[in-house]
Amino acid sequence: MSARIIDGKAIAAAMRARLAEQIAGLTFRPGLTVVLVGDDPGSTVYVRGKDRAANEAGIAVRTIRLPRDTAEATLLAEIARLNADPAVDGILVQLPLPPRIRSQAVLEAVDPAKDVDGFHPLNIGRLAAGSPSLVPCTPLGIMRLLDAAGVALAGSRALVLGRSAIVGRPLVFLLLGANATVTVAHSHTRDLAAECRRAEVLIAAAGQPELVRGNWVGQGATVIDVGVNRLADGRLVGDVAFAECAAVAGAITPVPGGVGPMTIACLLENTVTAALRRRC
Ligand code: NDP
Repeated sequence: MSARIIDGKAIAAAMRARLAEQIAGLTFRPGLTVVLVGDDPGSTVYVRGKDRAANEAGIAVRTIRLPRDTAEATLLAEIARLNADPAVDGILVQLPLPPRIRSQAVLEAVDPAKDVDGFHPLNIGRLAAGSPSLVPCTPLGIMRLLDAAGVALAGSRALVLGRSAIVGRPLVFLLLGANATVTVAHSHTRDLAAECRRAEVLIAAAGQPELVRGNWVGQGATVIDVGVNRLADGRLVGDVAFAECAAVAGAITPVPGGVGPMTIACLLENTVTAALRRRC
């Protein structure tokens, strides 16, 4: 293996420590409310992780648990109540929601100033227009990771593999903001391997276990693996075949311990940002 490992766990821990210090210096505690509808096991684990990290940083975090059969109108009324509560700086509605609730209607109901997930159309629009406000946590975490790892983006050829609303698309705008030359690949891309090979910074967010092979990676490229895939044998792997790609890349993130911890750290950062804007 020749690649330097980008340790997301350590970078996120340092970020959280800085945020805790910043929060300790405030005259108020930023407030975060997480809304969880139903008992999806994955969501329950994610929410527990967010709760713990926010608490440790000194954020006043509260989780509202609603039953799976909650009506959309009830959820919207709860969000309206949180929008109006001055102690709440950030609102996060854990996705996925049960099928009969329209996710888009719910995300649009959150006050954009409290939208710490950055999914409100107004915040997405601001990002697309080049004036980001609250930015989705995973793409923001990737930018923080690249910065901490000293990866120079200006003028570089970056490829984003995946165009989802929560990862790929917002990341494109952030990379453009950092003056990278950005290519976006997706399931209709012809000769994906060749597109990937050209990239100096390759970010894989396709949700396909070990899709990116060693011979898809340019010599010395930086490889960021966003994927989290559970295999039938219980192993957790990314979208990148780690050992093969680490032999060619200049730097690479592991799964777990790469992008995942940064997502949570950026949720805390967004909560502090929202609190400072609202209260100071
Ligand atoms: P989506 O399924 O919403 O999007 C996947 C994207 O990848 C789509 O744009 C799709 O193309 C593209 N794609 C899928 N398969 C291929 C393929 N074979 N070749 C080329 N492109 C392909 O996924 P998400 O963006 O929500 O998540 C991506 C991964 O990141 C998942 O593994 C998820 O678990 C992980 N994730 C990790 C987070 C973290 O904190 N670490 C946070 C969020 C997600 P098309 O648009 O054409 O269908």
